[in-house]
Amino acid sequence: MKHLTILIPAYNEEDVLPALLERLERVIAFIPKYTFDYLFVNDGSTDRTLEVLKELSHQYDKIRYIDLSRNFGKETAMLAGFDYAKGDAVVVLDADLQQPPEFIHEMIHWWEKGYDDVYAVRATREGESRLKEWTSKTYYKLIQKMTADKVYPLAGDFRLLDRKCIEALKQLRENERYTKGMYGWIGFRKKEMTYHADSRAAGETKWKWSSLFKLAVDGLTSYSTVPLKIWSYIGIVISFMSFVFLAYEIGKTLLYGTDVAGYPTLLAAILFLGGIQLISLGVMGEYLGRVFIETKGRPPYFIREQSEEPVMSEKPIELDRKKDTLDDVD
Ligand code: UDP
Ligand code: MG
Repeated sequence: MKHLTILIPAYNEEDVLPALLERLERVIAFIPKYTFDYLFVNDGSTDRTLEVLKELSHQYDKIRYIDLSRNFGKETAMLAGFDYAKGDAVVVLDADLQQPPEFIHEMIHWWEKGYDDVYAVRATREGESRLKEWTSKTYYKLIQKMTADKVYPLAGDFRLLDRKCIEALKQLRENERYTKGMYGWIGFRKKEMTYHADSRAAGETKWKWSSLFKLAVDGLTSYSTVPLKIWSYIGIVISFMSFVFLAYEIGKTLLYGTDVAGYPTLLAAILFLGGIQLISLGVMGEYLGRVFIETKGRPPYFIREQSEEPVMSEKPIELDRKKDTLDDVD
């Protein structure tokens, strides 16, 4: 019998957990051909998420959890989940029930047909501001223009991943993670399905505009090197324009003489160029920052505790990255 892990990153989700489990149980009751476990990654919640999970695990024996040592963010929490997931396939699900678990059924259907990555694309999103929707649409359009890799806009983390994909994703151990880009990058056979996103069942979204901005920048800088290269083109265009302008000014002075005028143009030119230079420096800083963080080679997360009995009898996968590199040196 094949085993499926439902991977649920959870950060301050105490309110929604009982409803989530009830709904999951109902869905899974209709899928008798598989065994399941619910792997919660408690991402350093400051509320009673972990306690609630422990209480609920008396009622639902499918619950397993790992408790991260602090809040690492959803991207890293998912990596932790991939590391510990046992299933022949893993379904990544948000805790807040915005993604209807009923779709797991259809995902399994396509998985059985031989697809490795069945991802759900959201058609609408209830209870979300127009502005947020527009921003995310424009952002994905922009990102697609800047990279040769195929980007799957609106495809979130709600997806079923075959063991092959999980093993691939486990090898991508960047600290600054942008998992949405990784799904595309690893390849494998993909299948798209549409769903309607609901509004949160309880609690509040953890994304602030500032963290969305950070994710957007992370996305761009980990996807594409266009922002790094574009400045040489802009520089060429601006230099050419100022050269033409200079020639024109010289000609004009030779023909008509000069007065002290031109001060505003000068100032404008200096400020404009100054701005461009600062932006390009900032862009390089973004990339350099990423290089710096990655060269430290820190493990992406730490685990404080985990559920006593893993659902399957084997031991959880140990993270042995240090050892691997040492062996390579010998
Ligand atoms: N999440 C997490 N760590 C964080 C922020 C969020 O594990 O630092 C989890 C959260 O518990 C939820 C999922 O990621 O299960 C999506 O978060 P949220 O619903 O707040 O994001 P949104 O749906 O608004 O994009
Ligand atoms: Mg949500």
